[in-house]
Amino acid sequence: MTDRQNPAVVDRGGRSAQAGGTIIEIQGLNKWYDKFHVLTDIDLKVSSGERIVICGPSGSGKSTLIRCINALEKVQQGRIVVDGIDLTAGAGNIDAVRQEVGMVFQQFNLFPHMTVLQNCMLAPMRSRKASKADAEALAMKYLTRVRIADQAHKYPSQLSGGQQQRVAIARALCMTPKIMLFDEPTSALDPEMVKEVLDTMIGLAEDGMTMLCVTHEMGFARSVADRVIFMADGKIIEQARPEEFFGNPQHEKTRAFLGQIL
Ligand code: ADP
Ligand code: MG
Repeated sequence: MTDRQNPAVVDRGGRSAQAGGTIIEIQGLNKWYDKFHVLTDIDLKVSSGERIVICGPSGSGKSTLIRCINALEKVQQGRIVVDGIDLTAGAGNIDAVRQEVGMVFQQFNLFPHMTVLQNCMLAPMRSRKASKADAEALAMKYLTRVRIADQAHKYPSQLSGGQQQRVAIARALCMTPKIMLFDEPTSALDPEMVKEVLDTMIGLAEDGMTMLCVTHEMGFARSVADRVIFMADGKIIEQARPEEFFGNPQHEKTRAFLGQIL
């Protein structure tokens, strides 16, 4: 692995040594869906350049947590600060944060009636008021980076799942985010397409992108993550460096989970 810019040192409690300064700070986060307490007392600090993998059983609140970081979910209690912007301090900050945080979903969510290129040009033109020429140049730059520039004029339905997910990554990168959130980006893919998407993510990690990835790809976690976070029942149960996490899991629930997926 080249260019590990911020090898954050993480202790058993998951406190990071902030080699790159804190870019995300979550304190005392609690969230309910109606009466259902979906996230309980979440504290999380992420250093700039840090790569975090979040895993845990289905329904444990992983998606909800990362959606909170992008202000896709309303939070009832606690504080979330992303790159100095307090998300919990007012609606005006939500747009600002979304400009800095890119998100990639399990179901690529590309616009079906737009070409690959148009999908990538849309947000910079709408949110950043980029000119058409600038947006196109940016889109081609990132499509080249995910090695799919030759498909720029096709429609999403003409691409494989792996190709569509790489377009979704390029589309997010076109907003030049400081942080990328991935929510099970390979779960909907046929097995033979998983690697091309993971390789794209590894490339991003090597370039120093701050990344939070919900994934059960434990090979990816081992080779890329600075820290693995395990969630169950809406709580962070355990977090550690990958070698510690996989080699010596502390919590009974972590061991049960790893026993199932490894
Ligand atoms: P995970 O990503 O770990 O599978 P989620 O964050 O998607 O977990 O969901 C956590 C829990 O919250 C689950 O029990 C789920 O059914 C519930 N949940 C998720 N989204 C909503 C919603 N919009 N309204 C009500 N309950 C929800
Ligand atoms: Mg989920």
